Amino acid sequence: DTAPHMQPFQAEVAELLNLMVHSVYSETDIFLRELISNASDALDKLRYEAIAKPELMENGGAPKIQIVPRKAPDTLTVIDNGIGMDRQELIDHLGTIAKSGTKSFLAKLTEAKDGANLIGQFGVGFYAAFMVADRIEVTSRRAGSDQAWRWSSSGGAGFEIAPASEEDAQRVVRGTEIVLHLKPDAAKYLEAYQIERIVTAYSDNIQFPIELVPEEGEPRQINSASALWQRSKSELSAEDYTQAYKQIANAFDEPAMTLHYRAEGRYSYAVLLFAPSTKPFDLFEPQRKGRVKLYVRRVFITDDADLLPGYLRFIRGVIDSEDLPLNLSREMLQNNPQLAQIRKAVTSKVIGEFEHLADKDADSFAKIWDSFGPVIKEGLWEDYERRDKLLALSRFTTTKGENRTLKQYVAELRENQTEIYYLVGDSLDRLKSNPKLESAAARGIEVLLLTDPVDAFWTSVALEYEGKPLKSLSQGDVDFGLIPTVETDKDEPAKTEETDEALVIATIKDALGERVADVRASQRLTSSASCLVAGGQGPDRALERMLAQQSR
Ligand code: ADP
Ligand code: MG
Repeated sequence: DTAPHMQPFQAEVAELLNLMVHSVYSETDIFLRELISNASDALDKLRYEAIAKPELMENGGAPKIQIVPRKAPDTLTVIDNGIGMDRQELIDHLGTIAKSGTKSFLAKLTEAKDGANLIGQFGVGFYAAFMVADRIEVTSRRAGSDQAWRWSSSGGAGFEIAPASEEDAQRVVRGTEIVLHLKPDAAKYLEAYQIERIVTAYSDNIQFPIELVPEEGEPRQINSASALWQRSKSELSAEDYTQAYKQIANAFDEPAMTLHYRAEGRYSYAVLLFAPSTKPFDLFEPQRKGRVKLYVRRVFITDDADLLPGYLRFIRGVIDSEDLPLNLSREMLQNNPQLAQIRKAVTSKVIGEFEHLADKDADSFAKIWDSFGPVIKEGLWEDYERRDKLLALSRFTTTKGENRTLKQYVAELRENQTEIYYLVGDSLDRLKSNPKLESAAARGIEVLLLTDPVDAFWTSVALEYEGKPLKSLSQGDVDFGLIPTVETDKDEPAKTEETDEALVIATIKDALGERVADVRASQRLTSSASCLVAGGQGPDRALERMLAQQSR
């Protein structure tokens, strides 16, 4: 039975397509970038699989991508001779969205006035083509397979899948051909100059040739197809880098930091890394996956090699090694001493570049910190070796203002102050009304106000900055000791005979019983009568709460 039958889209896909069809997005150009990016990925995968099975490359010609505009009926076809998809892959990849964060993305998209930017950031990829096409036909043949398949859909609830016709199968020897039946208002994408404009803007650095195949005349290559990271810094402009970032990271924003260098020596490799200026959707995924791409001698190997520690997972880009073997297995990726060495060296370079930026271009660093500070702070907890550097880079909101460094804090210590004080809590407002700040304020002591969930973790490690220990105001016995109060005219209230401390404490202990470990008189408060604190050895209250929530 070769009759096509309808398969339903995953609910999220159906919802997404519904939004695409019924909304007007201004930046529809990105559909082409997405299709080219998929074609390039497919060529990368073929090149990688062909390392072990060279016969996969035998039929189907040299790797390339073709864009074929045709009028009346208006179709735009994107062709690659990459890895291709078999029946199950067509169903799995073009019928579902595997991405995490899809639900929250769809909710945002529903509210957004113009979701094109969101679509680009999230990377709905293939489905973006439904912004410009009312019907899409995909013919694909997995490299080495004797069977080609035809997937087709007009958006809506589902797609059809069937063996490709004789004619289609003869044409698609290897890889994928995607035919877009353009909507009437998308006819501009048939103009050669429009196609060239988009390719130049988004896909110039794709490593494979992209050819425009006009109705009349010869096909011609319209991208420069170079591995930009292999070129020397001196011949590249800021624009080249921005473009490379957008293409490599599939991003829309500007990079807040660019790091490009070549390491020579025991190991040789080229590094091109970027820090985005805006947050991606999956930043707080528990897997904490990085996405730096590993290449070996210009061949893409994987973006799953954890080339940077988890707290730098927002960094995007490429590391291209000259010495690693091409046939790196998964186990080798995990245990390779050379990769471990590269990881270590590149991590230090990234941190060094942060330091440089914080010094030379504080605004750019502030952008990185605003978006990724909560992630970088995970390093305070887990990267023992670089803790001091990370602490020095950290920016804090304090009782004195925003974006404060510990360097500034320490420079303005109060007389006799030997510790750095902080409070951890859910929100600034709640922290600011915390009675524990009163006595600090009375002495003019600056207090770090920590409100990111990760703050509870890194503060549970004993830390110090320039010999000054960090100390929580909500923990045990904070003793401001000899730090003088600011308002010297307001004398300490004289103890009256009636204030019998011991009696008050005994009465409170009696009333609270087992629910508290101890009741103590404290110099921490000025106008509140009492407050609750965690024991000196016990975990901080915020951490206690967070752990309790997680174990629920
Ligand atoms: P993403 O590229 O982020 O995975 P897409 O929606 O762009 O998301 O594509 C979904 C999947 O469909 C890809 O991961 C890939 O497995 C498959 N795919 C799309 N286009 C092609 C193609 N031209 N060749 C081979 N596989 C493809
Ligand atoms: Mg894609």
